[in-house]
Amino acid sequence: MNRPKRLLVANVAWAHETAARNPDFFRDLVRGQNPHVLWIGCSDSRVPAETITHCEPGDLFVHRNIANLFHPDDDNSASVLEYAVRVLKVGHVIVCGHYGCGGVRAALLPPEPRLPHVNRRIAPLCALAQTHRGELEGHVGERARIDRLAELNVLEQVRQLRASPIVQEAESLPLVHGWIFALEDGRIKVLTSGYEADDATACTAIARSAA
Ligand SMILES: [Zn+2]
Repeated sequence: MNRPKRLLVANVAWAHETAARNPDFFRDLVRGQNPHVLWIGCSDSRVPAETITHCEPGDLFVHRNIANLFHPDDDNSASVLEYAVRVLKVGHVIVCGHYGCGGVRAALLPPEPRLPHVNRRIAPLCALAQTHRGELEGHVGERARIDRLAELNVLEQVRQLRASPIVQEAESLPLVHGWIFALEDGRIKVLTSGYEADDATACTAIARSAA
């Protein structure tokens, strides 16, 4: 059986199992969506938003791209934010990066001539790496530098999102969270939550781990 065929067979099984578990499930899906969270994550196949958070269809409004980037001038990510905030009125925007990110790694290497779109897309990430070059060089080993840049990248996307007019002018201000997922153990670390008490704790922990 070819791979797409296998996916279609699995889909039939999933639809059957889901309907058996909750006979109202698909009736409710048809009625519309009311997600409370916009998830901005990496396209990496190892970081599927719903799976790692035990979410169901209807729980998350999702945007994924290489290295979980948000840019106000990019209609793709900005339109998702606009719809999530102005129409769905989500209360939370979560940027979730991950350690060992290939997009982040690429930003630390010379541009790859075969990937002009990727190069353009990650240009702001390359600029971020330049800004923090001193700190990144203080980390021993490529993996440590990639992982620190992945954290800085999440925090930079959070900053851009919080500064966005779409968020600033929202009827009810959504909280913008910065998370990072570890492939090693499947756990998510909170870098910033928008909840002041949580952020004070996270800052202390990050400062300690960077020391
Ligand atoms: Zn990634």
